[in-house]
Amino acid sequence: MLRIPKIFAHAAAVVVVLSPGTTFAQESVDSDLISIHARVLSADSFLGRDTGSLGHEMAARYVASQCKEFGLVPLGDGYFHPVPMTRATITSATLTIGAESFTDIFPNFNKAGTLRSFSGPVVFEDQQSGRRIPNTLQTGAIVVTGGLIRSSAKIDSLSAEGAIGVIQLMPDSGFFELLRESRGRSRLFLQDETIPSAFAGAIPSLVAGPDITAALTSIIGSGGGEVFFEIETQTNPFTSPNVICVLENDGGGVEEFLALSAHLDHLGLGTVDQTGDSIFNGFSDNAAGVAMLLAIAERLRAQPVVSRPVVFLFFTGEERGLLGAEHFAASFSQAGNSIAGLINLDAGAPPAPPARWEVVAGNDSHLGEAAQMVAETNGWGVRVSAARPNSDFFPFHRMGIPSIFIIPGARPYDGKTEGESDALFERWDAYHQRSDEWNADFPFDGLQRYAEYAISTLIAYDRVLGGR
Ligand SMILES: [Zn+2]
Repeated sequence: MLRIPKIFAHAAAVVVVLSPGTTFAQESVDSDLISIHARVLSADSFLGRDTGSLGHEMAARYVASQCKEFGLVPLGDGYFHPVPMTRATITSATLTIGAESFTDIFPNFNKAGTLRSFSGPVVFEDQQSGRRIPNTLQTGAIVVTGGLIRSSAKIDSLSAEGAIGVIQLMPDSGFFELLRESRGRSRLFLQDETIPSAFAGAIPSLVAGPDITAALTSIIGSGGGEVFFEIETQTNPFTSPNVICVLENDGGGVEEFLALSAHLDHLGLGTVDQTGDSIFNGFSDNAAGVAMLLAIAERLRAQPVVSRPVVFLFFTGEERGLLGAEHFAASFSQAGNSIAGLINLDAGAPPAPPARWEVVAGNDSHLGEAAQMVAETNGWGVRVSAARPNSDFFPFHRMGIPSIFIIPGARPYDGKTEGESDALFERWDAYHQRSDEWNADFPFDGLQRYAEYAISTLIAYDRVLGGR
């Protein structure tokens, strides 16, 4: 018998499934269930579900108890998969330029060894053109860039050139403060430093605000200068659980899982805002995503329509650098298991049914094709974009596992005018703010469609792979 490479076997199946007359029915998911789960998970009592906090632990227990109630089983020893991490609490961070010291600076994503003090001459680099002032990067230099560097690969390449630190300038005080607040006072790392990180590179990575931007900009003209960065931290080891639940299906001997993921953690507590609120409830980010997964699990349990086992992944540490997903991706494959495809949900809660979608990493696999096909069948627009490390699908995508991240696309929403859609968005968008809360007036038909798109794509992909 000829051994057909898997990719061709899949391609053959696609021809059958996508032949004329094949339709992908939109599956129904209960929007009340999504609302109830999201309300529980974003309650004040969970204190913003910060990674490693009691609030997150309680939310994890809620999710596991729901899985158990639906008849989902653990993977391995139990529903909780502890992820060993270290917390470094920043007690001070100061940048000195000439005679002046500044505190509008904080470490971005870092690994254990890169939260350290350093000093050296600065080199400015324009991220778009790559142009540098001065134009050579000496060993021991500190690279200063305008705007955020979004991947560890870039930081690693600067390190390979001899840089010992990176400072990313954010001149807008609003953006700077939002990001500083989001990152919080502590930094979290995986204890296992052999596991890759999408964000943390080999050298210290810092974000600086408007005061430092002005001071550094003024020394560009004078041909450069030296800076001194000083940081003090306190470190503590701890564990935080991923929650993993499996819906068993008789795959006729097929042992590959289909996977759905959503992060359970959020930002925890911050300072008190103007309304007296200090809790980042994270309703749309990502209690809504977890709630969609629970509603999908219940739906698939009540009416089994996929032939493969489905693993539901509720990750910890996403906001801290995809830590739970990185850890699981590394250990899952070591354990000899395999995932045929993963769909990640984590994009804010659309306040009306989207008419368009973005499918991140949708060009790289038959899973992406299935997502496009489902959208087209339903008359929705779909834009495919390149993979980037903006949520938990990324570690799996990096390993070559078909993985997509479905995001509601451009407005207007379905059945709404441009103006109505913008007004809805304005009213409900509260990305990474304390006001991102469950509300009885929030229209849940947007999340219903989001969940239905995910479940329909899962079913379509199962058929592409040769399911029932
Ligand atoms: Zn999120």
